[in-house]
Amino acid sequence: MRLTAAIIAARATAALSRGLRRGGGTALPGLVAERVDPGLERTLAARLGQGSALVTGTNGKTTTARLVRGICREAGLRPVANREGSNMMRGVAAALAESASWDGRFRAPGKRVGLFEVDEATMPLVARAVEPRAVLFTNLFRDQLDRYGEVETVATLWRTALRSFPAEVTLVLNADDPAVASLSDVALGRVVLYGVDDETQAGGPLEHAADARWCYACGAELEYTVVFYGHLGHWRCPGCRRARPTPDVAVSSLMTADDGMSVTLTTPTGEVTVRLPLAGLYNAYNAAAAAALAVALGIETGAIERGLAGATAAFGRQERLTVDGRAVQVILAKNPAGVNQVIRTITADGAPKHLAVFLNDDIADGRDISWIWDVDFELLSGNVASLVVSGRRAWDMALRLKYAGLGERPDVEHDAALALRRAIDATPEGGTLYVVPTYTAMLDARNILGRWAGRGAFWEGDG
Ligand SMILES: [Zn+2]
Repeated sequence: MRLTAAIIAARATAALSRGLRRGGGTALPGLVAERVDPGLERTLAARLGQGSALVTGTNGKTTTARLVRGICREAGLRPVANREGSNMMRGVAAALAESASWDGRFRAPGKRVGLFEVDEATMPLVARAVEPRAVLFTNLFRDQLDRYGEVETVATLWRTALRSFPAEVTLVLNADDPAVASLSDVALGRVVLYGVDDETQAGGPLEHAADARWCYACGAELEYTVVFYGHLGHWRCPGCRRARPTPDVAVSSLMTADDGMSVTLTTPTGEVTVRLPLAGLYNAYNAAAAAALAVALGIETGAIERGLAGATAAFGRQERLTVDGRAVQVILAKNPAGVNQVIRTITADGAPKHLAVFLNDDIADGRDISWIWDVDFELLSGNVASLVVSGRRAWDMALRLKYAGLGERPDVEHDAALALRRAIDATPEGGTLYVVPTYTAMLDARNILGRWAGRGAFWEGDG
């Protein structure tokens, strides 16, 4: 009875907030469901015939979870997944409540698999409730300082949680991130590792902003033979001889193509080559992470290949759209390492680019915006054809960009719609506008651009 009441309450709240156009990632339905039946996640998750998998880490959660959904569908499974951005416990509750029927049962329960993207600090709580088969850790970067503090705080939280995991749980770990790879030290069960083998993708020396430069075990400064970006690379510790483990799923080659890239992955059951409509080494990491989680779930290579190809096409459409004859690409800015990668990708061909940068300081963006001083905006100098700066902290961003050598008087417009209009007008027809917003600014920008592109907001139908 209580479960049914919780499901009804969640659905009514979801319908209501859709009616009010609250947009994606609303927390209310899950919050209501949890209030009515606090044991809802545990009860419903236990009824998923294929169990659950969690995706956590600082960057790449949303893309990776989306890719895994596509792979699972190709394998004949029916995923239950939380919406982008609702990655706390209540987002998981809402996903389960909205996918179950009134009596708390699932249709085709034998094919149901839970795929939940969860916040770094919420992972232990969600794992206790849904008892996942596998947990994927993507990477660990400094993010939203005021929420979690240092990288080591999160790493310690993860290690503590892993010690209480049952041995049936498979860990999927990024071999190239020393803070993540070291979690295998406390793993009680199986570990599947992924990473990039293609050394031609090296990005140069370790950045000053690199977050995990010291060995967690002995404190020595790590040595790298290859750095891909941030602190991701081929590392070893001169102190205790820990070193990057050999990945089970590896990006063996990556070739940039006209409209994205071609990625070859070696897996324990064969080689997979997919064309991704997205650029950037970080998206190759996301593809490898998704394939590794699929391997952990026992999914065959054919489904991985078809799933990656299909799901990335859908992803590409969602992140890229056409407004008034201009291609507009929205790229979320989360933290220094992520933005540095975005800037490297955008400026790779050396041609001047059209940009709109949005900086907000809501809780979901991170209240402390000092991270913008750790971003290598200097790389954009001489590569910018037009630049509009917006968001609640537009002037802080304008100042940062001025110091990066991007003009004495940047175009600052606080109103998001006016700023986007100006940026589109400054981009010639047939050209590409890159919109780089923080999280809450992204939700606004997507809404506005989605309307202008003549279709609904992006997250609709993304379930
Ligand atoms: Zn060491």
